[in-house]
Amino acid sequence: MNESFPTRRTCANIAIFTDLDGSLLDHGTYSCENARPALERIRARRIPLVFSSSKTRPEIEVLQAAMGIREPFIVENGAAVFFPDGYRNWQVQDGTHQPPYTVIRFGATYSEIRRWVRSLRPGFSIRGFGDLSVEDIERLSGLPPDQAGLAKQREFTEPFLIDDDLKIVELRAMAEAAGFTITRGGRFHHLMGSGQNKGIAVRRAVSVIRRHMGPSLCTIGLGDSANDTAMLQSVDIPILIPHPDGSYEDVGVAGLRKARHPGSRGWNDMILELLGVPPGGRTP
Ligand SMILES: [Mg+2]
Repeated sequence: MNESFPTRRTCANIAIFTDLDGSLLDHGTYSCENARPALERIRARRIPLVFSSSKTRPEIEVLQAAMGIREPFIVENGAAVFFPDGYRNWQVQDGTHQPPYTVIRFGATYSEIRRWVRSLRPGFSIRGFGDLSVEDIERLSGLPPDQAGLAKQREFTEPFLIDDDLKIVELRAMAEAAGFTITRGGRFHHLMGSGQNKGIAVRRAVSVIRRHMGPSLCTIGLGDSANDTAMLQSVDIPILIPHPDGSYEDVGVAGLRKARHPGSRGWNDMILELLGVPPGGRTP
């Protein structure tokens, strides 16, 4: 972990890893409009910008297309890293080629997860996205209809509701015995393979990027929630974005820098500062 603020003298190459909801994207509106100046700098300097989210691959693909970018990304809470074919002409040797990507997977597959969920039904009343209609997911998640459909297209993890919350402790123990783990999200519990988290996926992505960009690579991570902790612990410069009410998640990460504003505005300010852009000014 770097204690000092790296400058362009000491940090020739940069890669950025970012959470989406509540970090690059504003809570509620899902807008990144206030981060546009920083995103333009990132593009101009050809800095890898790796989304690291609980979102699915189709959700991230739609977002990247809307932003006009094509970059590596991490899906479903660290379940896998996707490198687009032909990205900077890099060779990604340690993954599986699934056109148009090379994929490095850490989590269980969705069919493994669903098989286990189905085996539970007699004892536990749980409802996963695989049991719910798009309309149900839209109603329960607050996502717009088109995004609810993309969120249902899962490859690795299962968000679910349980009728009796008291049973979650027992369920978690059973999941762990079967090689899975359960985390608590905002509205849903999440069932996933025990070998995955955002930190594991970020570290593997960094090793690929460093192989191509050199040992002086400096990594920046931005997140706002407990499930970003492992990612923030795995980068040189961890940045915590506050919640909309101004409070900060208690992530306990050494060397943490705190953005002053929530969502895309805080994200923008911190990245411009790290890239050496004075407020309202040009790069010196
Ligand atoms: Mg978040």
